[in-house]
Amino acid sequence: AAARDAAEAAPSATTSRPIPAVIGADLEVPVKGGRLVGYANLDYAASAPCLEPVSAAVAAALPAYSSVHRGAGYASQLTTARYEQARHTLRAFAGARPDDAVIFTRNTTDATNLLAGCLPAGTTTVVFDTEHHASLLPWPQAVRLTPPAFPGAAVRAADEALAAIDGPKLLVVTAASNVTGELWPIAALAHIARRHGARILVDAAQLVPHRKLNLTALDLDYVAFSGHKLYAPFGAGVLIGRRDWLAEGEPYLKGGGAVRSVGDDVEWHDDPEPRHEAGTPNVLGAIALAAACDALSATGWTELVREEERLIARLRAGLASIPGVRELSLWGDDHPRVGIVSFTVAGYSAREVAEALSGEYGIGVRDGKFCAHPFVRHLLGTADGGCEDGTASAVRASIGIGTTQEHVDRLVEAVRDLVSRL
Ligand code: PLP
Repeated sequence: AAARDAAEAAPSATTSRPIPAVIGADLEVPVKGGRLVGYANLDYAASAPCLEPVSAAVAAALPAYSSVHRGAGYASQLTTARYEQARHTLRAFAGARPDDAVIFTRNTTDATNLLAGCLPAGTTTVVFDTEHHASLLPWPQAVRLTPPAFPGAAVRAADEALAAIDGPKLLVVTAASNVTGELWPIAALAHIARRHGARILVDAAQLVPHRKLNLTALDLDYVAFSGHKLYAPFGAGVLIGRRDWLAEGEPYLKGGGAVRSVGDDVEWHDDPEPRHEAGTPNVLGAIALAAACDALSATGWTELVREEERLIARLRAGLASIPGVRELSLWGDDHPRVGIVSFTVAGYSAREVAEALSGEYGIGVRDGKFCAHPFVRHLLGTADGGCEDGTASAVRASIGIGTTQEHVDRLVEAVRDLVSRL
């Protein structure tokens, strides 16, 4: 009965529905002079606002709020069924194979670190210096590749690096850059990894809010992403992929739930899900994340991508028309990208721009190096510089569901206004 209730609570992903609303779309914020203006949230790549169906799913789960996996009571069974249903939803959303592990984590960083702890001894990881630190730093033994000048160069560099490595190897690559939004040639890189007997982990944190992911079709071994960039609240993410390394790796956390029995010896679970999910899990986070996946799937990607591409093209064209504004790009203007654009404004530090956008125009963007220091330095052509002082940094605007044309136009006109004051 609990499983049936949970199944009935799950929305069907087969019909195409209107784009859902985001919570907080009517937020007003103070600007200079004390005026209130509607908030133009253009910082989705950091954390996206919550969708209404996500909030509704959490509200629906709260009355039966109870511990999972070990309780005999009805509420506990229902909550367990909802939690496991969320796992199924994530598996389907990612296009994972039926036998892939789906491990709930706190976020992408948690997921990459979890996998790093499960690598067979002596594994060498190949990673580009274009990665977010979450995918750049966790690896015990890494070969770091310089940013490739074009997509084919990425494939060739990975090919050469993997060919030179003996023993277990893992290629780690982002699907969509959190700095430029540019899409990486994931299928070609997966193919190269396969040819060298390597595995591939794709950091899909910035892909899944914008494009459909299909782990099976792309022949990926692992993917990681975060709920808070996918229109769910903070605190839940996922690592999905092949079971064997995860079944043998050291349990990520040690404690209740990860063990089969404890006496003088400890017998850990072999199944990756309990093995790496010790302690009471973030059940509401998992339910929220699954609800976001359901909402996106139910809306349909064609519709979502069309609207995003219209707005990001308008934003990029607007910024390009302003003297002194330079968009950061690794592979040129025409390379496909998701709804992220980073730029600099001659005569201003990134921090000055971001503060003026917020304080004068009610626009939220991010400035800095976006936890991708080597990449941003490469794009800016600087070998030094700190995030904090706003020099050698960039401004990033990022969009998604709930972004309007007025938000985009307001940003362009605000930057134009700032430039005109110089
Ligand atoms: N990978 C990419 C591409 C990201 O953009 C981010 C966050 O900005 C992360 C990983 C890390 O995500 P989290 O902070 O949720 O662990």
